[in-house]
Amino acid sequence: MSSVPVDIDIPDNYVAHTLQNSKALPPIKFSNLLNEINWLSFTILIGTPIMGVVGAMNTPLRWETMLWSIVYYYFTGLGITAGYHRLWAHRSYNASKPLQYFLAFAGAGAVEGSIKWWSRGHRAHHRYTDTDLDPYNAHRGFFYSHIGWMLVKPRRRPGVADVSDLSKNPAVKWQHRFYLPLIILAAFVVPSVVAHYGWGDARGGFVYAGVLRLCFVHHSTFCVNSLAHWLGESPFDDKHTPRDHLITALVTVGEGYHNFHHQFPMDYRNAIKWYQYDPTKWFIKSMQMVGLASHLKVFPENEIRKGQLTMELKRLREDQEKIVWPASTNDLPVISYDSFSAVQAQAAKRPLVLIAGFIHDVSTFMEEHPGGAHLIKRFIAKDATTAFFGGIYDHSNAAHNLLAMKRVGVLLGGAPHILDIAKQVPPSQRLKIARYQELASVKADYESTTAWSEGEDDDVVPRGKARKLVA
Ligand SMILES: [Zn+2]
Ligand SMILES: [Zn+2]
Repeated sequence: MSSVPVDIDIPDNYVAHTLQNSKALPPIKFSNLLNEINWLSFTILIGTPIMGVVGAMNTPLRWETMLWSIVYYYFTGLGITAGYHRLWAHRSYNASKPLQYFLAFAGAGAVEGSIKWWSRGHRAHHRYTDTDLDPYNAHRGFFYSHIGWMLVKPRRRPGVADVSDLSKNPAVKWQHRFYLPLIILAAFVVPSVVAHYGWGDARGGFVYAGVLRLCFVHHSTFCVNSLAHWLGESPFDDKHTPRDHLITALVTVGEGYHNFHHQFPMDYRNAIKWYQYDPTKWFIKSMQMVGLASHLKVFPENEIRKGQLTMELKRLREDQEKIVWPASTNDLPVISYDSFSAVQAQAAKRPLVLIAGFIHDVSTFMEEHPGGAHLIKRFIAKDATTAFFGGIYDHSNAAHNLLAMKRVGVLLGGAPHILDIAKQVPPSQRLKIARYQELASVKADYESTTAWSEGEDDDVVPRGKARKLVA
């Protein structure tokens, strides 16, 4: 078998090129359904639940068998999650020989195809997530990504993904070679024999720990492709469909922190917090403790935090955008001092107060001023900077924020005399979330503010959408 990776010469534009040039099978319709069914997996996936239900209706359930079925569910489930998935598909740790054969056997009991076939599809799923080169593309709907993709013939070949490392692995080769006898043994014989010799319930063992348990393991692991791409949050990245949710974790033996998993697929964990449900992680960790597993891969905490912070900022930014902010200095007209003084005559009509180089219209606020209207009246058409910034009262942050909302103009040459930038930027805006491209405009905005001091002596210098100051 060749050890050259199949994707060694993959073209740069592989995804777009393949999607455009390789033909997909026609969409499934009622008329072509019978021709498109994948009979082998269809029979297994539809036959198992029918057999299980009919068997259960005719077989009394003993508590020993019930317990054994749950144990065997976890046993075969771990074969998939700790074996097929985290060990072979993702190489997230090294397993000793005995552990590898144990997992290959347990995984066979889940009847989900050989390690090699499964891992090849799963590697394509990660590489081409949410495209048609992903065999269980979540964009094709919940049902398709859960089970539909196995009931019908694959609509396209999964995108190229290398599994040459697995082709060389003895345990993988062994399982591939003896796959049929292994699934019969692991899925049906072992659960029946244990129940027979344990408490004399071979039939119950077959029905409950064999057939029905298989049905549960199937849908449990299928949920990683459907539910985990549909339900929950995206705390690490929202570019693609994978999500984190406790319910998914509970039904998938801990594979429910799928948003994390798609971001850090080489990490042996799915859940990073100790209290999150991830028995697969606990199993791998305990295998390490008894010396059967090693080199457990963990992504750097710093990089994980980066993803989380990005998503937190994104959510905060959405909140920020729902809030109304003061007019930008670029949108305010620049008024000369003479012009500002001239409005003194109209003070009764439109009271204006100068603070920190900005002209504020306080007409709607005078009566609501907690200190009384008389204190504001004193400063109409005057500079109240010192009084406002602690000279009379050290105003609260809320007062600063509210004041900025009353801005109607900038006094020519006024703002630059306030050397303290904190007086110009209200507290609520000192830590605003800005997109990278916006930073340049914030800087330009600030620089144009400072440039005023070089002073033109026109009365009004409109910048941007100048507003009419004097009514
Ligand atoms: Zn996924
Ligand atoms: Zn994965």
